Amino acid sequence: MQQCGHKIGGPDAGPTLGVITNKDGTRSAAYGGLKHCGSVWTCPVCAVKVATRRADDLAAVMRAVHERGGSAFMLTLTMRHARGDRLGLSTIERRRRDLLEERRADREVAEANGWDVDERAAEAEEIELGGIKAREGCWDVLGYAWAAVTSGSTWVKDSTLFGGLLGWARVVEVTDGANGWHVHVHALLCFADDVAAELVAAGVGARMFGRWRRALERRGFDASDEHGWDLRKAQLGEGDLADYFTKVAHEVTGATGKQGRSRGGRTPMQLLADAVDTHRAEDIARWWEWEEASDGRRQLTWSGSSRDLRTLSGLGHEATDEEIADEDQEADVRLSLTSDTWGWLGAADREVELLEVAERCGLAGASQWLEERGLRHATAQAGRIPAPS
Ligand SMILES: [Zn+2]
Repeated sequence: MQQCGHKIGGPDAGPTLGVITNKDGTRSAAYGGLKHCGSVWTCPVCAVKVATRRADDLAAVMRAVHERGGSAFMLTLTMRHARGDRLGLSTIERRRRDLLEERRADREVAEANGWDVDERAAEAEEIELGGIKAREGCWDVLGYAWAAVTSGSTWVKDSTLFGGLLGWARVVEVTDGANGWHVHVHALLCFADDVAAELVAAGVGARMFGRWRRALERRGFDASDEHGWDLRKAQLGEGDLADYFTKVAHEVTGATGKQGRSRGGRTPMQLLADAVDTHRAEDIARWWEWEEASDGRRQLTWSGSSRDLRTLSGLGHEATDEEIADEDQEADVRLSLTSDTWGWLGAADREVELLEVAERCGLAGASQWLEERGLRHATAQAGRIPAPS
């Protein structure tokens, strides 16, 4: 499991404790100056931070689309899966596959030009590539099928309908259910005109699903005509992608507890909780498979530069998951903790307790709490602690 929240800086430098007073008068406290892993898939701390930011970005997109008189739709695409299906290749396997495919393309160019090709090396590489492809799982196939959904002449034509496609944003969601890994896509499609969902579903939606299903079939998977897809109109704050990320943040922080299990199976964070709780060999093996296959994959992807929803919505360059995870919140005031103090808090497992004291009683209360325990600290300069480079 991931280690998150490492201290950065020299041996004597400790993190800081910051307190923000919210608009409603409540306080939020957080530690700053820590290095985070940035994994939205396996780290509850980073997942919440990143999901909160993505929700803000997508809410800005929804507002921008509506202000222009446009409309947004949530398209869900699923695939049939079985208990034994693999989740997907590891990062190393994916890199190797991509490299071998590039070299195959190079060879084809060489052959077309009549240049020399090392036949034996080529054959060995083809065998290796075939082996990797045979190990591909649902997530790898999903990437391939989504590329098929958003390319080709039909898609290009469909992108000009309803005043023109403003762009799309796509998330991948995975749950672990009775039938194995359930990997699916939620995509936000934004059009310039305000159109009815039925109209979009009957044309563009049905054609997107058709390409999705045919691409899955080419890779030995398939999708149900009846239950394989769903398209509905998205309103800001209900059933859109911003709402989705808000729910993810709540789920990870435990706000929704064990709900939702009966519907779509366990979320990975619920799987982790089960593995830690029960030590069941099956859950632990499942979590390891999850860690390996999810590593390095993107949760949220946007349509390309010609249909850029971020620019349309006045959002700047997209921060990576890692960058968001390492950002410190703007704090009104901060305490700087010494390395010894931080070490004591960690060993005694009382980091959260101190945050709660700071939220209840402010920095003065936190300072008193530390003094009572003989823990060294100092008032740091107010403001932002720069993220590590
Ligand atoms: Zn983390």
